[in-house]
Amino acid sequence: MTAEITYLNFINGVWKKGSGTRSVENVNPANRKVLGMIYESSKADVDVAVQAAVQAQKTWRLVPAPARGEFLFRIGELLRKNKERLAQLLTSEMGKVIAEARGEVQEAIDMAYFMGGEGRRLVGQTVPSELPNKQAMSFRAPVGVAGLITPWNFPIAIASWKIFPALVSGNSVVWKPATDTPALAYEFVKLIEEAGVPKGVINLVFGSGSTVGTALVEHPDVNIVSFTGSTEVGRAISSKAGEQFKKVSLEMGGKNAIIVMDDADLDLAVDGIIWSAFGTAGQRCTACSRLIVHEPIKEDLENRLLSRISELKMGDGLDETVQIGPVINEPALKSIHEYVRIGQEEGANLLCGGQILKSGDCQNGFFYAPTLFTNVNREMRVAREEIFGPVLSIISVTSLEEAIEVNNEVNYGLSSSIFTNDTNRTFIAMRDLDTGIVYINAGTIGAEIHLPFGGTKHTGNGHRDSGVVALDVFTEWKSVYVDYSQKLQRAQIDNN
Ligand code: NAP
Ligand code: MG
Repeated sequence: MTAEITYLNFINGVWKKGSGTRSVENVNPANRKVLGMIYESSKADVDVAVQAAVQAQKTWRLVPAPARGEFLFRIGELLRKNKERLAQLLTSEMGKVIAEARGEVQEAIDMAYFMGGEGRRLVGQTVPSELPNKQAMSFRAPVGVAGLITPWNFPIAIASWKIFPALVSGNSVVWKPATDTPALAYEFVKLIEEAGVPKGVINLVFGSGSTVGTALVEHPDVNIVSFTGSTEVGRAISSKAGEQFKKVSLEMGGKNAIIVMDDADLDLAVDGIIWSAFGTAGQRCTACSRLIVHEPIKEDLENRLLSRISELKMGDGLDETVQIGPVINEPALKSIHEYVRIGQEEGANLLCGGQILKSGDCQNGFFYAPTLFTNVNREMRVAREEIFGPVLSIISVTSLEEAIEVNNEVNYGLSSSIFTNDTNRTFIAMRDLDTGIVYINAGTIGAEIHLPFGGTKHTGNGHRDSGVVALDVFTEWKSVYVDYSQKLQRAQIDNN
């Protein structure tokens, strides 16, 4: 187990305590043991970090992109060497089970190599000019200083989705990680430092969203803000940044559904549902929290799910046999429990769960029993609002069209899935499900890093993390015309 430590800010190449007055403990949600602590930072700390980033970016942007990519390859190597240590720490501070934690660190490794390779591409266009003796082209230019704000549920993967494309395209970074998961942020930046990234290019500032997050969003020298978190906070960030016409990329909440049709392979569907609804204790932005089931198979599916849920092993995720860990903290536990109360009050039928667990392997942590509601009505709050815990609501439908309508009628649009063996149904679903990610015969989770990640409606604001398109967030397009005719040539006029 990790000894208790203080996670320091990293500003202009120097490790230093935040200058705020408050300290905050990092607690292991499986047993409430204190792992370490941060000191709150102040607005002044953010200012120093941003100024360091402004200075460092002046030279970083001139480092050839392939050489910037080499730094990412080195970081990838270091992440690989430290994978098991980081995964254990991730489970300890965030609670997800160790297999998932290893997967998350692997995602950061994959992203390092993928974006490192982009250093040799950063592809633009070369096109013919409409005029003779003239060349037209476009290329990507860095935006400047990137302010990154990340959540606790993927403390290293989501950070890597933002830090690597920002760096490879020549931006410098000021990163404010979630207060609940400082250890992974600290360890990640230590490895970035070890890889030799020049001072000031990456800066880490711990502290609350209201102080540090706000200061970053409002700072006039932060040119692009990339945020992942709740829709509520995203909305506030978007309006603040909008006043300064800042580039803002937002990845927010979800209310993701799995559709199961009467022709589906039910064994496979049950595997997908259990993994998507209860993996990471339901605290993934892509977690499945609605099960839209075709009426003829409803009862069969309910019985199969109840039997599988009763076998799930809960406890400290460091135990390799545990399948579900704790939720992040006490307020999360209370908010999930409140949603279960609301569901019951609205008339949903509680099939299992609905309790805070306080005994056995769960007695010292923040554990919530996997919960299944059925006879949920489309209008109920448990069918529409993000719960962010292990609570699944079953809604029954009589056709594919109705299933798609139910899927699409919520405010969110991150991920969706359908289990069916009918090719026609598959292609209709691919076309009509209004989410940024669609899975066929798989659950709602399992994104790979080389495709765009993000969603429609209140899940995002049109940008995507991950994949090559992440570079669109961290670059500005520059179109360049080179005229070597040695005379004034007027586009749209001289050639018509
Ligand atoms: P959150 O409360 O919105 O916090 C996210 C980050 O924003 C944290 O670093 C937080 O700092 C900071 N923050 C809070 N208030 C702020 C403010 N006023 N100004 C600037 N920054 C502020 O979300 P969370 O509870 O950590 O994460 C869960 C949410 O994230 C869920 O809604 C989930 O769906 C969403 N999520 C979305 C995706 C996606 O890609 N679509 C991926 C993962 C998670 P503190 O930690 O100090 O409060
Ligand atoms: Mg913690």
